[in-house]
Amino acid sequence: MRMTAPFPKAAGSPVPVTLAYGDGIGPEIMEAAIKVIEAAGANIAFERIDIGERVYNAGHSAGITPDAWESLRRTGVFFKAPITTPQGGGFKSLNVTIRKSLGLYANTRPCVSLTPFVDTKHPSVDLVIVRENEEDLYAGIEHRQTQDVYQCLKLISRPGCEKIIRFAFEYARANGRKKVSCFTKDNIMKLTDGLFHKVFDEIKTEYPDIETDHWIIDIGTARLADTPEIFDVIVTSNLYGDIISDVAAQITGSVGLGGSSNVGQHAAMFEAVHGSAPDIAGQNIANPSGLILASVLMLQHIGQSEVAERVHNAWMKTIEDGVHTGDIYKEGRSAEKVGTKAFADAVAQRL
Ligand code: NAD
Repeated sequence: MRMTAPFPKAAGSPVPVTLAYGDGIGPEIMEAAIKVIEAAGANIAFERIDIGERVYNAGHSAGITPDAWESLRRTGVFFKAPITTPQGGGFKSLNVTIRKSLGLYANTRPCVSLTPFVDTKHPSVDLVIVRENEEDLYAGIEHRQTQDVYQCLKLISRPGCEKIIRFAFEYARANGRKKVSCFTKDNIMKLTDGLFHKVFDEIKTEYPDIETDHWIIDIGTARLADTPEIFDVIVTSNLYGDIISDVAAQITGSVGLGGSSNVGQHAAMFEAVHGSAPDIAGQNIANPSGLILASVLMLQHIGQSEVAERVHNAWMKTIEDGVHTGDIYKEGRSAEKVGTKAFADAVAQRL
């Protein structure tokens, strides 16, 4: 176990990355993640921006200021803690706005069981959800038709389907994955989901080395919750992907374990799968693993792979040593129940 000075910074000039501490548990888990990656030698010049609750409350209905946009457009890399979206009318989801404005079309959410270290009914989950991130019911086309009738339009385009489905196959190839499964509801939504399925069937012919199948989303999700080991890479549209990735993260032990990347042609954003968890905010009990794993994806993206590997190995060793936050702590299986800060210290000591 390392108790000495931090690793020297990775070579080259510091990479500019925009950073947001978010709402709820955001600041606690971000502090933990930053502590770990800085100790591991990440060579990053963070530009901190303020987004979310405080900015909504200051009168910016989008939850973000022009200066923050300027930083995001300039750096093209965003490390983001979860933010709280005010519920109800008047406020747009900032997460959706950022993904759409920066063209972050591909949301990748890996889910792995940490057997035998973390308790789960599903010891052999090892799958990746690739979620379309700009279209579908999250395109933001929602309005009131009459006093009592509201409408939300589902937008699915051929270019959108082609981009995400090709991304999923390329991801599978690059990461040694054997199968890509497509989830849609095209038995009912014959045009929109029908297009997604049709494009999947067209593109799969370009990847004869990869096995494929298609599932109607309801039975696919049932199988995901029951026999997740039959899946490898799942590609799906925005709303379905959002829902099934929480299911997948939860069945591995906790939503607190999920990290994700949101990637586009000119920018990328890295965040935990879960939200701002206001029910446990400020108590130093949140699991920072999702954000730490998101930082690993970010470090790989900016070319600091050695630092990424160091962080991932130290995090894994911490989990293997049974140093667990409350959400995954289990008497008999875990060795020590720790808070957010102590978990980060434990990871930093194992670098
Ligand atoms: P949530 O993911 O914040 O919380 C769901 C449950 O999981 C809660 O019981 C929470 O305590 C627990 N949990 C979540 N993360 C945890 C962690 N790291 N460690 C331990 N337990 C954890 O979902 P929610 O309550 O539906 O949403 C809260 C807010 O977050 C909402 O405003 C929502 O819009 C927002 N949200 C933001 C993002 C994002 O910024 N990317 C994503 C999802 C939800």
